[in-house]
Amino acid sequence: MKTNYVKGLEKRYLKRKGSVCPFCGSRDLDTSGRCFGIDSCFQNVSCSECGNEWTDIYTLTGVTFENLPDVATFDKWINGVNLPQD
Ligand SMILES: [Zn+2]
Repeated sequence: MKTNYVKGLEKRYLKRKGSVCPFCGSRDLDTSGRCFGIDSCFQNVSCSECGNEWTDIYTLTGVTFENLPDVATFDKWINGVNLPQD
């Protein structure tokens, strides 16, 4: 369970889109060590100014497709399942 202190830090950090240290306000942040989960991704962040460290949590919010097959081909793959209509 998150304490109000942690919630406050998180709120401050997310409000600035993770661009500023939630502890000291520095923009001098280092990132390293990405780790991928099933529907989320984690990245270690440290502040060069105050030395605090934390982990950014990214979640899946969308998708872009590359080399998309044409609809007819895809329709064969899914064998009769109706594609969503706009
Ligand atoms: Zn800092």
